[in-house]
Amino acid sequence: MIDCVFPVNLTPYDGEEKGVLAVSTPIETEMYAVVRTSGRSDFSLFGEIAVAVNQGNTSYETFLMDNFPNWKPVYFDTSEDCLRGIAAGEADCMLMSNYRVGRISELLERYKLTTLTTGTDMVEYFAVRRQDSALYSILNKATVLVPSSVINAALTHYSFVESKVTLATFLRSNILGVLIAFGIILAVILTLLFRSRRSERETRNALSKIEELNTEQEKRLKEIAALNAELEKSQQNLRNALSASEQANRAKTSFLSSMSHEIRTPMNALIGLDSIALKDPDLPPKIQGYLEKIAGSARHLLGLINDILDMSRIESGRMTVNNDEFSFIEMLEQVNTIIGTQCREKGLEYDCVIASQICEFFIGDDMKLKQVLINILGNAVKFTDAPGRVSLTIDQTAEYENQATLRFTVKDTGIGIDEEYLPRIFDAFTQEDGATTNQYGGTGLGLAITKNIVEIMNGTISVESAKGVGSTFTVQLSLQKSETKATPAVALNPAQYRVLIVDDDPVACEHARFVMDELGIAADSCLNGEDAIRQIGLRRARQEPYNLILVDWKMPDMDGLTLTREIRKLYQGDAAVVILTAYNWEDIADDAIASGVDSFMSKPLFPATVMQEFAKIMHSITANAFDEDVQRSLQAGMNAHLTKPVEPERLFDTLERLIPD
Ligand code: ADP
Repeated sequence: MIDCVFPVNLTPYDGEEKGVLAVSTPIETEMYAVVRTSGRSDFSLFGEIAVAVNQGNTSYETFLMDNFPNWKPVYFDTSEDCLRGIAAGEADCMLMSNYRVGRISELLERYKLTTLTTGTDMVEYFAVRRQDSALYSILNKATVLVPSSVINAALTHYSFVESKVTLATFLRSNILGVLIAFGIILAVILTLLFRSRRSERETRNALSKIEELNTEQEKRLKEIAALNAELEKSQQNLRNALSASEQANRAKTSFLSSMSHEIRTPMNALIGLDSIALKDPDLPPKIQGYLEKIAGSARHLLGLINDILDMSRIESGRMTVNNDEFSFIEMLEQVNTIIGTQCREKGLEYDCVIASQICEFFIGDDMKLKQVLINILGNAVKFTDAPGRVSLTIDQTAEYENQATLRFTVKDTGIGIDEEYLPRIFDAFTQEDGATTNQYGGTGLGLAITKNIVEIMNGTISVESAKGVGSTFTVQLSLQKSETKATPAVALNPAQYRVLIVDDDPVACEHARFVMDELGIAADSCLNGEDAIRQIGLRRARQEPYNLILVDWKMPDMDGLTLTREIRKLYQGDAAVVILTAYNWEDIADDAIASGVDSFMSKPLFPATVMQEFAKIMHSITANAFDEDVQRSLQAGMNAHLTKPVEPERLFDTLERLIPD
């Protein structure tokens, strides 16, 4: 049921007639002319206008006649027909209150119509049923109190709220925008789609690449593992080869060393007997010549054997250097005596020059230094033919605190050395060519030993040479200077001393006694240990104890070491006991020292070596030891040390020091 109507445009009389009661306060609403949008600019309120009229809307008709009497009404059935008629050109306009315009905006759009202000208001009323007096009075009061502009605004508002915007209308009115938006959205979607496809493809590619890399890496790892295994295998092979070669080397060294020792035993007899035979005053000159040649060859052979033993010692790291105080001039004199003699015999000039101030005493290994110089000078003599010249120059190149660096220069005017051979000259068993060996002999060991000794002494050796002009060898090494003078040699009267020789070999005994005889030392001999002990006891009882007992190491009934122990037990500290051995005494040194042996001497005994070694024994009593083993032996109470072959001068010298008065 409808309670209230708006707008109605009727007089109170009309209302009475229709059974409704119009509220007495009119609402003024502004009227708009609805015209075709296209004809909007031509439209004039004062022109001849065909106005569309909704048939039966009398109040509207009345309003038109009152306000626009010139206008010609064109009738339509409904309001929408009116609008359609305008669009179709059947009418020019239609008037409409402002709030209704809001309601038909959709239709205006559809028929391409627009609105224009007319500047004219239409008076309209609220109407209620006659009997609804309460509502009538409320509306009456409200319309009086509320300004008509506010009511109009409210009416307009409600008209618009009522008008619903459907999707169709929205689309129709915003078709371009919608299409653009749709296009943009589509483009965005397509772009995203494309991008995601592309990134998917890229991801797939990257994954397959990673997979490829992985397989590649796996392949590489496998290859590395295979290489590692191979490397390990070849390392193992190398290790095996190394240990095999080390073993072979050890075998070679031990073979060379034991062979050399074995050769030395028959050499004892050879050299010993030869030297005895040479002493025969009735010798025919021819035989004497042969015997002298035998002596020379035997010495040469002994030299070779000693070289081989030296080399095997160097190779097995057993070569050591002593630190004894020695007289530099004395050492040099010995070298000059040997080399000077050789040069004289060969018709060569020899001179030794000391080019700068040099300390008289040094601490070092004079024997090894002598060996170095004799090796180099010996080669110079060997490879220089007469008329030629060999020289040795010594100068001090540096001095620091108590160390002096000495330079030894050996020059010859000999055959010279080929440039190609020079880099290998210090290698063992090398010679320039076969012809050298044939013509000059030698083993090719001399310089290898020399270089090793120089290096053990922390020195250097170098060579310069020109074929056919000559060679120059230079050795540089530092020696510790000694402030104290070496103990002056005590004059030894050989007649005061008595030596006992104990050897199961009668030839060796005879030779040793012969050597002692040469030196003027009284000597007895025994062929076994028991006899020796008895003999020593006898001498003691007669108050003529032995000063030196030379004992052969290897004897059948009582060996040298057992005999020494016995002697020590019975006659503590009476005499110096020296063990005679044809073998390398170093091998038995520990046992020998423990048994009470004082020193060692190798057979055959040479007067010069014996003297030298005896000098050494004496020297080492006052100075430091000169070899690792001797050091140990001295600590154990040994007096001195002699190496073989023993020469009379050495023995004499040693005795002199060992037995001072
Ligand atoms: P060896 O002399 O026993 O053969 P070395 O090691 O002493 O062995 O010398 C090796 C080689 O060096 C000699 O064979 C020789 O060819 C060469 N040589 C050494 N010194 C000289 C020198 N002063 N003049 C010429 N050649 C030399």
